[in-house]
Amino acid sequence: HAAPKSDIAISQDAPKRPIVDLAREKLGIAADDLEPYGRYKAKLSLDLVDSLKDRPQGRLILVSAITPTPAGEGKTTTTVGLADALVHLGEKAMVCLREPSLGPSFGQKGGAAGGGYAQVVPMEDINLHFTGDFHAIGAAHNLLAAMIDNHIYWGNALGIDSRRVTWRRVVDMNDRALRDIVCSLGGAANGFPREAGFDITVASEVMAIFCLARDLADLKARLGEIIVASTRDRAPIRARDLGAAGAMTALLKEALAPNLVQTLEGTPAFVHGGPFANIAHGCNSVIATTTALKLADWVVTEAGFGADLGAEKFVDIKCRMTGLAPDCVVLVATVRALKMHGGAKKEDLRHENLAALEEGLSNLRRHVENVQKLGLVPVVAINRFSADTPAEVALVRDACAALGVTAVVADHWAEGGKGAVDLARAVVAAAESGRSRMTLLYPDDMPLIEKIRTVAREIYRAKDIALDAPVAEQLAAYQAAGFGRLPVCIAKTQYSFTTNHEIKGAPADHIVHVREVRLAAGAGFVVAICGDIMTMPGLPRLPAAVGIDVGPDGRLTGLF
Ligand code: ADP
Ligand code: MG
Repeated sequence: HAAPKSDIAISQDAPKRPIVDLAREKLGIAADDLEPYGRYKAKLSLDLVDSLKDRPQGRLILVSAITPTPAGEGKTTTTVGLADALVHLGEKAMVCLREPSLGPSFGQKGGAAGGGYAQVVPMEDINLHFTGDFHAIGAAHNLLAAMIDNHIYWGNALGIDSRRVTWRRVVDMNDRALRDIVCSLGGAANGFPREAGFDITVASEVMAIFCLARDLADLKARLGEIIVASTRDRAPIRARDLGAAGAMTALLKEALAPNLVQTLEGTPAFVHGGPFANIAHGCNSVIATTTALKLADWVVTEAGFGADLGAEKFVDIKCRMTGLAPDCVVLVATVRALKMHGGAKKEDLRHENLAALEEGLSNLRRHVENVQKLGLVPVVAINRFSADTPAEVALVRDACAALGVTAVVADHWAEGGKGAVDLARAVVAAAESGRSRMTLLYPDDMPLIEKIRTVAREIYRAKDIALDAPVAEQLAAYQAAGFGRLPVCIAKTQYSFTTNHEIKGAPADHIVHVREVRLAAGAGFVVAICGDIMTMPGLPRLPAAVGIDVGPDGRLTGLF
């Protein structure tokens, strides 16, 4: 039995269509409306994007998952495999995914272009510099940072309190050494020394804005609203006060056009934007999603983390702001991960363990209920791993049947689109049933603190939230300043319904401690930080980077 091919080897050996041909044949896009980046990647012109506005819209399928475990769930893989499977059924389908960040690629997680025979290609490009969007976003972010210090240097007409500059700098790398720094050292010519720091580019508010902007004008308006600091008497200083929004938009103008690539089976895919799923909303750009819906009858897209974070934010942030609404939610579950939720250890996952699986199904049930609370019809995709036994798969299917929910085994990782045709049929049936009637979890006019409490109680099943006095005061101040209508973006561990990453399964009646709140006035949400959230990750003891290499033949290895 030969060892299975690595994701990167499958990707490298795959024949690819020139993107200009693919765009013409699959989407009817003329070469003039494309800006190719090499042969296999292209940006759509923003003029074309604009011209599609009045076209009818396809159906939107959101791929989400159970609570992640180190065993892996395969949301991206399933997003790609499902779109390919829809094509097998004769449907016109597209994929919409986030762009991967360099940090995780060289750290722990590896690439983010799917896996096995369900990938977007060219995966090396997508995982590395791609079309330069993240560099543009980093440059726009850091331009604003430079303009703040420059403003202070030249006399500080706005009266910025340099102790209260909240705008940090960014770099797309896991580099813990930069988390907290002192800048402007070295004498009077270098400005006024102050404490500063770096976040990873995907944690930038510019990234969140980029992914929520409807068009160039909306992008510029939102960039102008970013609050970067305050004066001594706590008046906010915005990007527009510094005159930065126009130049930031100039840096982002090219990047805002969606990137077109293809799956291994030649299904068109937009890979565009990539905000963090904790302090931001964790899904690809609105422009990519809305454009794909004009170009295809079916659009399959992924939201980061489990459904408690990803699907909730997709609905309460992205859909609330844009009017989008999924026609069905695919909940990806694996037997392995469910067994871990039921107490099995990672080393023991190869053995059948029906008792642990039964116990761990509580996690899947909870996510099913949550998706239904959002008014959406869930379809469970059992992403099959080779060690899954027939009895285990049957147990998951029966548990879903008892809830009145369709669960389908999918083999797209091993077989590509044809392995997920049953899943695609179930998704089409669920979407076309019209039973999905998306409901926002809370109305705009609910006070911010009640919004946080509602998400904690309804989705995380907490007894309540707990806030220290300064946090409650900050929320009240946002409310008083007119930001009370914004949605909330909860930043908490993705590994548990609680704020303790070790508590798996379906815990209830816990307390969600809100440690800190931050206003993202440009992105248009209030971030509630619950537990330890890293906006600048570090590399692990043995980073993936150590295994990445380029051979004498120029072939890249180790970018799994
Ligand atoms: P997510 O989007 O949920 O983080 P991915 O789709 O990126 O997950 O998959 C994570 C990893 O798991 C990838 O390396 C992928 O190749 C692997 N994987 C996904 N599905 C399977 C499967 N059915 N069998 C084996 N490996 C899989
Ligand atoms: Mg993913």
